[in-house]
Amino acid sequence: MSVPYEQRAVQGLEHLGLTVAHAHLDSVAQRAAAAGWSYTHFLGYLLDGELAERQRKRVELNLMFARFPVVKRLAEFDFAAQPGLDRRLVEELATGRFLSEGRNVVLLGPPGVGKTHLAIALGVLTAERGHRVYFTTAMDLAVKLTKAVDANRLHRELKVLMQPKVLVLDEVGYLSLDAVQASLLFQVICQRYQKEQPVVLTSNKPFAEWGQVFADDAVLAAAALDRLLHRATVLNIRGESYRLKERRKAGSPQVGKGGDGDL
Ligand code: ADP
Ligand code: MG
Repeated sequence: MSVPYEQRAVQGLEHLGLTVAHAHLDSVAQRAAAAGWSYTHFLGYLLDGELAERQRKRVELNLMFARFPVVKRLAEFDFAAQPGLDRRLVEELATGRFLSEGRNVVLLGPPGVGKTHLAIALGVLTAERGHRVYFTTAMDLAVKLTKAVDANRLHRELKVLMQPKVLVLDEVGYLSLDAVQASLLFQVICQRYQKEQPVVLTSNKPFAEWGQVFADDAVLAAAALDRLLHRATVLNIRGESYRLKERRKAGSPQVGKGGDGDL
């Protein structure tokens, strides 16, 4: 006896891995019958649920893969607290156009002005658009790549770093890199540039001091900047530390003593 088509529909959805459609087939079919939906309306509705769930899972995985130290969003960013920052420029970045254009984003400024916050927020937006993102500090990346050199797998590690649509490179210039680390960081910047894959970078050092960032190698620093800035949006945040400002508002006696690190 042949299997009835009703049963085949259930089995087929399961075989195809359409788990959400499989789970909802009965209820959606009943709804369709009660409301007199067309066949295509029914199919569209069923697939919509499947696709929405896939998208949700994809974003969840992307956010896990990204390893953000904390999730920050643009909606939480208080632009009024940073009047020197060009809001329109940030909103233009939020459209995601920089992704397709392979444009880098460079956030410069002193500690506490929201560079990491904005870099993460752009990364989160990218993940929500369905792309892979990877967050790292420059020093963590340098240490990781040095280990890869020792284990004879630099080539593979660099290849992995080319995969995400966006590489968030935080705290460039906070800790000084040695010559090997500087050359490894340069290779990452160089290869991502060649592949037109955006880097979102934060630094407390103005470009004029980037020689120090690259182990006092001014030539290497210039070559890195050349690639980074060829296609880039630079946001120079000159304002005051957000945390210090908040604490002052709260009337804390510790204002100005510092003490807590950045993200
Ligand atoms: P930076 O990377 O420039 O040192 P962070 O992005 O780490 O600064 O900001 C320090 C803290 O202050 C974070 O918790 C961040 O979310 C918050 N912060 C900074 N600027 C703003 C802002 N304009 N609006 C809301 N929160 C902010
Ligand atoms: Mg920071």
